[in-house]
Amino acid sequence: MAEPATTRDREPLVLPADEHNRRLVANVHPPGWVNPEPRDRYHLLAVGAGTAGLVSAIGAAGLGARAALVERHLMGGDCLNVGCVPSKAVIRAARAWHEVRTASGRFGAPPVAGAGTFAAVMERMRRLRADISKVDSARRFADAGVDVHLGEARFVAPDAVEVGGKRLAFRRAVIATGGRAAAPPIPGLAEAGYLTNETVFELTELPASLAVIGAGPIGCELAQAFARFGAEVTLLDMADQVLTREDRDAAAIVQEALARDGVELALGVKIQKVTGGAGAPVTIEIERDGAARTVTAERLLVAAGRKPNVENLGLEAAGVETNKQGIVVDDRLRTSNPRIYAAGDVAGLWQFTHAADAMARMVIQNALFFGRKKASDLVIPWCTYTSPEIAHVGMYEHDARDKGIEIDTLTLPLDDVDRARLDGAAEGFLRVHVAKGKDRVLGATLVAEHAGDMLGELCLAVTAGVGLDAISGVIHPYPTQAEVVKKAADAWRRGKLTPTVKKVFGWWFRVFS
Ligand SMILES: Cc1cc2nc3c(=O)[nH]c(=O)nc-3n(C[C@H](O)[C@H](O)[C@H](O)COP(=O)(O)OP(=O)(O)OC[C@H]3O[C@@H](n4cnc5c(N)ncnc54)[C@H](O)[C@@H]3O)c2cc1C
Repeated sequence: MAEPATTRDREPLVLPADEHNRRLVANVHPPGWVNPEPRDRYHLLAVGAGTAGLVSAIGAAGLGARAALVERHLMGGDCLNVGCVPSKAVIRAARAWHEVRTASGRFGAPPVAGAGTFAAVMERMRRLRADISKVDSARRFADAGVDVHLGEARFVAPDAVEVGGKRLAFRRAVIATGGRAAAPPIPGLAEAGYLTNETVFELTELPASLAVIGAGPIGCELAQAFARFGAEVTLLDMADQVLTREDRDAAAIVQEALARDGVELALGVKIQKVTGGAGAPVTIEIERDGAARTVTAERLLVAAGRKPNVENLGLEAAGVETNKQGIVVDDRLRTSNPRIYAAGDVAGLWQFTHAADAMARMVIQNALFFGRKKASDLVIPWCTYTSPEIAHVGMYEHDARDKGIEIDTLTLPLDDVDRARLDGAAEGFLRVHVAKGKDRVLGATLVAEHAGDMLGELCLAVTAGVGLDAISGVIHPYPTQAEVVKKAADAWRRGKLTPTVKKVFGWWFRVFS
């Protein structure tokens, strides 16, 4: 099935073509940019200037290597242009709208009425994105010693790529071409047309209604945000719950929050067909347990998984193998061509900016300095930025079960934490898995308004092997929501008191009285 043309296939034109987007493009794909003459064999050539490519190229140049970076569209990749940055700006605005609308009932604030200005939300997002884009700009990278080549890269040999008719030879290369929204095989979908993360941030008018296919992190985040702006949102998925990869209890809390915010959940459904679209509303025919019904919406957003960008790269000429997940890599991120590595979303391991960053750092060490760093040693946390957020690090209960590791699990509700109650944000919990009978933290899931910001302590615990015993001895400021971590550690400590120790304490207090 043909996928709709994306902005990526054309000259960089970021819509709407306003002052902010012109500033963005001037930074990340400057009009009139002249590619440098290729230098002698580059020590490291990065294909793709998303997080993985940017970090590997600038890191290598900083160490004195001849480094090149090739980008066909916008430097900064998905994260800056159509991913983390615009989505989090939009989510922040949606939270503000929600707070304002609910503040009267919750906090006795003056009541508000009327609609907000969606166009202003999107303009704020574009302004901030343009401001942030300086960090990923072609000029900054060139000034840091990286040869920035704008154009489509294609391998023409195991040790060379071609860009704009010029051959760039390399000792080592890293494929960092990322991914894009996958199109599910639904009859009529391509003909109806739909938004993806590449086009949704171009909107300047709030659609009255929005259907979202895919209840993963991107689908849930955007469904909730658009519902909070006042669109009638329907979230569809074939799974019978949202966020299937998360702890079930954590996902259930987010599911309730979505429903409370007015998102209509059409879960466990099979989508039969899409009709309409192309300027008119779309109609989605769905079926569940033999019962058919339709969902009609002004716009349709598809957020049903990602697909690696591996096409037209000349990978055969380079001897680089791929599979469904993307480029096949070993534990050191090396592809089937020992000169070429892969990092970021295209390597098919994780799909997060911080993971792309961590993999790029590994590539520098392994590719240029005979490093032996392993991807399997990385501890990669993640967070879904719904309200409340779900943040996770390390093992889930099912991971431990699959690996035959015995664990103890502690769950601490957020309403045991004073600050969470005072903030009116007591919905959620912290769940910590420790090695059975020990304090070693193997994994943790936190559901809270700012779970992502609160997870750092647990990431340190999992990464550096800091146990709950040590965390229980760390003094946390009162009252903070992050006290939930210490409270869980204290609960673990109390549970550690064996009957014998309790007996000894009982004896001591009798003697001491
Ligand atoms: C809506 C959304 C929200 C997200 N939110 C978060 C979040 O909150 N936190 C988080 O950690 N992650 C988030 N992500 C994921 C994050 O954006 C990605 O994990 C990250 O961008 C991956 O970086 P990358 O370098 O692997 O690839 P990308 O950022 O995709 O960059 C790849 C680059 O390669 C270029 N390219 C491709 N082929 C070629 C070629 N042949 N020649 C030259 N250049 C080429 C592309 O144009 C692109 O610029 C989000 C993603 C989406 C879609």
